[in-house]
Amino acid sequence: MSKTYALSDLIRADNFIDGQWVPAASGKRFAVTDPATGERIVEVADSGPADARAATDAAARAFPAWRDALPKERAAVLHRWHDLMIENADELGRLISLEQGKPLAEGRGEVLYGASYVAWFAAEATRVYGDIIPNQQRGKRMTAVKEPVGIVAAITPWNFPLAMIARKIAPALAVGCTVVGKPAEDTPLTALALVLLAHEAGVPAGVLNLITASRENAVPAVADWLADSRVHKITFTGSTAVGKYLARESAGTLKKLSLELGGNAPFIVFDDADLDAAATGLMAAKFRNGGQTCVCPNRVYVQSGVYEKFADLLTTRVAALKVAPATDAAAQIGPMINARAIDKIGQHVDDAVSRGARVLTGGRRLTELGPNYYAPTVLADATKQMQLSCEETFGPVAPLFRFDTEDEAIGAANDTPFGLASYFYSQDVRRIDRVARRLEAGIVGINEGALASEAAPFGGVKESGYGREGSKYGLDDYLSIKYLCQGGLE
Ligand code: NAD
Repeated sequence: MSKTYALSDLIRADNFIDGQWVPAASGKRFAVTDPATGERIVEVADSGPADARAATDAAARAFPAWRDALPKERAAVLHRWHDLMIENADELGRLISLEQGKPLAEGRGEVLYGASYVAWFAAEATRVYGDIIPNQQRGKRMTAVKEPVGIVAAITPWNFPLAMIARKIAPALAVGCTVVGKPAEDTPLTALALVLLAHEAGVPAGVLNLITASRENAVPAVADWLADSRVHKITFTGSTAVGKYLARESAGTLKKLSLELGGNAPFIVFDDADLDAAATGLMAAKFRNGGQTCVCPNRVYVQSGVYEKFADLLTTRVAALKVAPATDAAAQIGPMINARAIDKIGQHVDDAVSRGARVLTGGRRLTELGPNYYAPTVLADATKQMQLSCEETFGPVAPLFRFDTEDEAIGAANDTPFGLASYFYSQDVRRIDRVARRLEAGIVGINEGALASEAAPFGGVKESGYGREGSKYGLDDYLSIKYLCQGGLE
């Protein structure tokens, strides 16, 4: 199958329910804007509970046939979807950049990254094994089989408008679940385009349904899924506060939950690190997507012996970053997502400076470029008392904390309720083993800044949530185990 779309043909403004493009039942719409300029791109459906319910109805009708399809039939559909994503990677990448603001190269990179999960789970679809349990009692045969959990509600954030939803839909569809989804209000267009391609790839009507809603109307719309006993699972990526709300509100129907939540990643540079490699790793991990990723280092701990040297090395590189709209091919940092994001970054930097941090580079808004730009920033002399040490800044700000001993660094790194990613640089093999074991995080980068892969388990501990996406473990979140006990076999 081959079909390429122009960008304008990928832009959809209605919900996709039961294989049809339909407006919100209320007829309401809300504007999606370009974060680089604040200009309106298009108005999409502003859905409410009636639309959420219609999506669930369609997913319930479609479930038995999709569950009973052969795994290789589901895999074939997913492979076609993957191929369409790759064929349309340039235009999908442009759409991501348009609504989210990341540079074009990163937008296209996200398409390849998201598509890699679809290919991975297409292959995994045919490898969902159960167990024959060794005989424990005469005359009985005990087996464990895995079944799809049922209807899955997927709710995603704005920072990776394609990858976050692709890595939820792909495993769900692979094992035979049907899906109702709601992308973030800032970036619904990429998800709608993905659904268009899924339909083109042969995903049957009702198997994948997507509604869009403004922040205000998302709450009652999603509440309908939380209360509906036909929805068996919620898979959510977003902030810890909203994750906790969803866990509380879904308790009434005791849903299975996957929660990929916020982080506060530490990045530790020991005296024995290769400083050049550490600076390269930090640039990759911290400044991707303008610092708006959940695995971005939020706190950089540098050992005293190399503190000034590392600060100089980093500052030179950060000061050279090109800040520009995504449409500029040379852009390395685009606009932040919205005014709220810019305000939070400014507030974190101002608070740090008022408590003694030194600005080595950046430290200001770039209003000359547009409403949502912030200069890539390095702060020295960061301390635990600063707001940016306990909350995600979610922007291009690297605060440098000083430490003396390994114990001190690990204690500081773990001194947070969050536990998603962590990073450290050292060339001492015994230290690498010790520190990797003691860091409280779901993901540890050791002398490496780029960690994500479809073949690896992605997820957190502590208040960064639970569940894993990607890898052979990623299917488990969408499966339940059924134990079959057959008697009378003596
Ligand atoms: P958010 O929690 O504000 O919103 C996420 C989604 O939830 C959006 O679709 C939003 O509309 C919806 N939502 C918000 N409130 C809701 C409510 N009361 N009821 C129902 N739905 C609601 O997060 P965000 O600002 O879009 O994304 C940034 C956050 O996501 C950061 O904390 C980041 O660390 C986290 N994140 C985590 C991962 C991960 O894999 N752990 C990946 C990316 C982003």
